[in-house]
Amino acid sequence: MAQQSGPYTKMVHAGQEPDWTGAVTVPIYQTSTFAFPNAEIGAARFAGQDQGFIYTRLNNPTLQALEECVAALEHGSCAVATASGMGAVSTVYLTLLGQGLHMVGTASCYGPSRVLAEKYLARFGVEASFVDTSDLDQVARALRPNTRLIYVESPSNPAMTVTDLAAVADLAHHHGALLAVDNTFASPYLQQPLNLGADLSLHSVSKFLNGHADVIGGIVITRDPALGVQIRSTMAMLGCNMDPHQAFLVLRGIKTLGLRVERAQANAMAIAQFLENHPKVARVFYVGLPSHPQYQLAKKQMAGPGCVLSFELKGGLEAARKLLNSVRLATLVVSLGGVETLIEHPATMTHASLPREERLAAGITDGLIRLAVGIEDLEDLLADLDQALAHV
Ligand SMILES: *Cc1c(COP(=O)(O)O)cnc(C)c1O
Repeated sequence: MAQQSGPYTKMVHAGQEPDWTGAVTVPIYQTSTFAFPNAEIGAARFAGQDQGFIYTRLNNPTLQALEECVAALEHGSCAVATASGMGAVSTVYLTLLGQGLHMVGTASCYGPSRVLAEKYLARFGVEASFVDTSDLDQVARALRPNTRLIYVESPSNPAMTVTDLAAVADLAHHHGALLAVDNTFASPYLQQPLNLGADLSLHSVSKFLNGHADVIGGIVITRDPALGVQIRSTMAMLGCNMDPHQAFLVLRGIKTLGLRVERAQANAMAIAQFLENHPKVARVFYVGLPSHPQYQLAKKQMAGPGCVLSFELKGGLEAARKLLNSVRLATLVVSLGGVETLIEHPATMTHASLPREERLAAGITDGLIRLAVGIEDLEDLLADLDQALAHV
């Protein structure tokens, strides 16, 4: 596969050249450890002078194939797979932060990413400020002399808030800090943060990359190879390595990433338009609609608006409950990025841990519904929402 291949070619082939057996699909190397050909090579592997495998917590051929594939998709030099998305977040924090150091993060980021910094790392003397990173002034004001990391999630749910990644990368670099981006909601198919100036990108591969709601996993991608070595070392010390079988499933999922996202995104666009014109809907949050506050910015930095949207019912909590209990095709469940359409209620589910005032400030009203659109037939999805809205 050529370096400059297009994204669909990379999804199918990057990191996945047939091995000595000729196997077309990367095998699951279900082994914990690897024999050294002799004492000298064993020593060279530990000294980092020989790239051969040592032990699966450090690396493994199935994991390496996945890492090379995702690094190619995101234009990084290095990727490190982790046991979960939170494993990826933990690895990034513990690599870059320490006692007396400070990070600035997106207030509406994935909840546990914020709790990990504010509650757990705080015990070890790490300082954190979470602000609305879509407002550059708030980011600039939050910077302190000891800020080492800006941690942005874009788009972040449920309001699908978009942060200007190139502008925040500039701010970070002028300040001597690094920018890490949680790219889970966009997927590498729609957004490549390293191309926009970020130093690290990370994913919960449990979502779009795997795409079939049957794996928990994560990955961190870096531009700088030396930073990649540090990330791998932290991952191995934490022991949050991915399992070879997980990696095999994710590699299979990635082969159809582009096809899945294109189709789900077309469904999402049509559903967003349907909802925007529905009399029982007060507001739709979808970056593909011109009514979205960061519509132009999303168009500039993303290759498409993605597959997740939220909408607010005029009838509040009562209406939200009615709708959730009336859908038949959409499944009532948290998570996103799978082939099936998923629906949930942020105020009482994914964002229930936020204090009510903070929830309302972030646009998470009691009537808000999040929809992660899948690849089913559009007519069936529209018919399902239509009948469910009739019960509201
Ligand atoms: C799901 C998710 C995570 C955490 O990933 P897990 O695989 O569940 O550990 C992190 N960030 C975002 C944006 C997510 O959606």
